[in-house]
Amino acid sequence: MKVTIAGSGAMGCRFGGALFSAGHEVVLLDGWPEHVAAINAGGLRISDEAGSRAVRVPAALFPAAADPADLVIVFTKATATAAAGAIGPSTLVLTLQNGLGNIEVLRSYVPQARLLAGTTTLGTELLGPGHIRALGSGETVLGALGPGHSDHADRTVLTLSAAGLPTRVTADALGVIWAKVAFNCVMNSLCSIASIPVSALAAYDGFDALASSILREVAAVAAAEGVVVDIAAALRLMKAQFDPAASGGHLASMLQDLMNGRPTEIAQLNGAIAARAAAHGIEAPLNALITQLVGLLEATWPRRVNHLHGDRQ
Ligand code: NAD
Repeated sequence: MKVTIAGSGAMGCRFGGALFSAGHEVVLLDGWPEHVAAINAGGLRISDEAGSRAVRVPAALFPAAADPADLVIVFTKATATAAAGAIGPSTLVLTLQNGLGNIEVLRSYVPQARLLAGTTTLGTELLGPGHIRALGSGETVLGALGPGHSDHADRTVLTLSAAGLPTRVTADALGVIWAKVAFNCVMNSLCSIASIPVSALAAYDGFDALASSILREVAAVAAAEGVVVDIAAALRLMKAQFDPAASGGHLASMLQDLMNGRPTEIAQLNGAIAARAAAHGIEAPLNALITQLVGLLEATWPRRVNHLHGDRQ
């Protein structure tokens, strides 16, 4: 199968590397020249618990003129969603990105019948140009967006699973995406504002009250869009994932983006909740405030007091 990875940071490389190793014809598209050059020069280096290996998967800079792929997997940050590569009359497009709004953007590239969406809990880090670290295990869940059974979704699940990326199909792709949005609207944003690892958040006495207030707003907006967000289930999942024994010193991706001076996905998380709430005539003041606070952090991160204090040591 011909596969184009549109956005080959940590996750794009993880999926592209696995599909290439499984025998598919893969190209990794990305916008970072040093990263693309490093992959083409020495292969994509993948480090995991078993060690480190190089995978000779080809990479190219956006936009690459190519024959239409059978499958385009979009893994840009949600701030830069676009389906790159040529899309032919039978190309499927799959997004597993975090946040809201990706589906709406991708509908302008491909008819909804060939658009698949979902989430993944596979953790991956980009260590440097051409080098990723694949963390632990995780699951990918995807589905079609229209009603009824989807052969496209079934085939894609089989392709990913056979490549060593455990995947299952869902009849409720939007519900799955919203559940992850709810999780990230709490976890990513609060860990970023407080500058703490995820394990410290669940240990905070006021966590349940704070998280529930944010989740109530998320659930109200989801309900206005016909999607059920189960607040109790979201809290249980957070408790399990923030367990210090399981999560250790893991830093939320939004906090890592701030630390690296890169744009966060806040506009696609709490920002999207605030904007959609306004459109539906619903109040979502916490999500609006969180969006503004993370915006303040993005604008002022290098001037943080502990940063300046560190400079004076
Ligand atoms: P990433 O941050 O690894 O890469 C995003 C883009 O930034 C890529 O184009 C990459 O080349 C570029 N980039 C990264 N470092 C750079 C640098 N130093 N200089 C220039 N460009 C640089 O993104 P990701 O973690 O793969 O996330 C993609 C999507 O998947 C997001 O929506 C994310 O929320 C979601 N996601 C990520 C994970 C994860 O564990 N990484 C898990 C689930 C979902």
